Amino acid sequence: MITKADELVYAPLGGVGEIGMNLSVYGYGSGRKKAWIAVDLGVSFGGGEDLPGVDLVMPDIRFLLEERKSLHGLILTHGHEDHFGAIIDLWPRLKVPIFATPFTAALFEAKRQAEPGAPEIPVNVVPLGGTIKLGPFTVELCSMSHSIPESNALIIGTPLGKVLHTGDWKLDPTPVVGPATDEARLRRLGEEGCLALVGDSTNAVRDGRSPSESEVGATLAKLIAAAPQRVAITTFASHVARIRSIALAARDCGREVVLVGRAMERVVQVARETGHLDGVPEFRSASNYGYFPRDKVVALCTGSQGEPRAALARIASDSHPEIGLAKGDQVIFSSRTIPGNEKAVNKIINGLVAQGVEVITERDHLVHVSGHPRRDELKELLGWVKPSIMIPVHGEPLHLAAHAKLARSLGVPEVVGCRNGDLVRLAPGPAGIVDEVPQGRLYKDGYLIVEAEARTVADRRRLGFVGVVSVALALDETGTLCSDPEVELIGIPENDGRGKSFAAQAVQTALETVEHLPRARRRDPDTVAEAVRRAVRGGIAASWGKKPLCLVHVLTV
Ligand SMILES: [Zn+2]
Ligand SMILES: [Zn+2]
Repeated sequence: MITKADELVYAPLGGVGEIGMNLSVYGYGSGRKKAWIAVDLGVSFGGGEDLPGVDLVMPDIRFLLEERKSLHGLILTHGHEDHFGAIIDLWPRLKVPIFATPFTAALFEAKRQAEPGAPEIPVNVVPLGGTIKLGPFTVELCSMSHSIPESNALIIGTPLGKVLHTGDWKLDPTPVVGPATDEARLRRLGEEGCLALVGDSTNAVRDGRSPSESEVGATLAKLIAAAPQRVAITTFASHVARIRSIALAARDCGREVVLVGRAMERVVQVARETGHLDGVPEFRSASNYGYFPRDKVVALCTGSQGEPRAALARIASDSHPEIGLAKGDQVIFSSRTIPGNEKAVNKIINGLVAQGVEVITERDHLVHVSGHPRRDELKELLGWVKPSIMIPVHGEPLHLAAHAKLARSLGVPEVVGCRNGDLVRLAPGPAGIVDEVPQGRLYKDGYLIVEAEARTVADRRRLGFVGVVSVALALDETGTLCSDPEVELIGIPENDGRGKSFAAQAVQTALETVEHLPRARRRDPDTVAEAVRRAVRGGIAASWGKKPLCLVHVLTV
């Protein structure tokens, strides 16, 4: 039953205006009394120079915690880290029922078990094409092809209409693993009536269609067949279709496949258990590598993004205990370099080339293809589904704008651009942003999770540009210095431009500052500390041109 006040709303809490850390919520009901479901809970990988020491970035889940009592479930579209990578860290605060298809659930469990100290986290397994009833929502899974098995769009049924949440997808009639995008179901949704489409914008600036996964497989098969010696191939660990293509190509040339890297071993085991590698010969372990003739082996490695501890980096620096390459061998990057990783990947490529290894990347041959839809695919989906509203998500502002423009040009009646934290009303009435909900970012910092607004990481970033000067003073009860100040510099040049020691200057400045303070004020340690801090910092800044951080400790004895 629909009451007059009932409305259907959508809010992204991550993944809009950025690639990564996807988290969306849908709400149904009136005013503050809404039932909610959440879709995906992903991470972005560390910020590198921008966020020193941060391994993972996650969406802030304050809103989910506030609405915890009316949050009916968390549905995972697929097993990529930008969709499920934050669960192990954040679920213990939420304890909401999780729903996922068999491969995603098994991959999550394998990952959880590999993480020391990870809590038990139950996942409800839903079959492909299955339906989940959650309060006023009926969520139906719709198979989509992508670069990992079992990617799903969600058809979210509510009393006010159906929403298609596309998840990550592409159109690929020959996806190598798993079913192709379920065109029949999507066309039927168009006939039933689709209120809103919330869709993947990653490749909305790219014209045409993405090539099929099976074309990549064919290219890899040709390259392996023509290779005179050893071939090592690196790809994303979770790319089961690629792993399958490589395995079958190797088999056809009479080569054994050696698996190198723990993340890939884990995915392969899960893929075998869930039937996605049926018919693929067993892989050999890395310890067998040296026993195969040079033209009878393919090494399948982790490390396509230049990760320094992954298999390929160690092979490139000739420090892998079991796998080595020599002049005339080939390395194929069956991957795309994610922006931000170029330096690390180039370092590996240079290491390999210096050893006389031939390196093949997507610039040379069709050895990789994206798992996201280009413009003609986006058009086709909009044509099938014919939504009244389109909301572009999963992209940076450039991608979102291109997707919005494309939808408008195709005559989608309402296109709503929103940002993380915007609450969008989908029905009743015209669609639009009606409110804001709390959103933000969390950082994984060592074992801890810290709020992005906390000063920790900002302080660390500052320390990357300036140093620290620390001054320790001891005063007696009359405010007289008991000894010379102790000064320590970290990350500050030793001498100024005239060759004068910064440490000696800081001692001098501290002494003079204390002496010039009236005796009454010298008895207050805080006053002394602040005066010394300003003077020392200013003194160093005057001849360095940069303001260091300055810490002053005043002990009273
Ligand atoms: Zn994604
Ligand atoms: Zn994905």
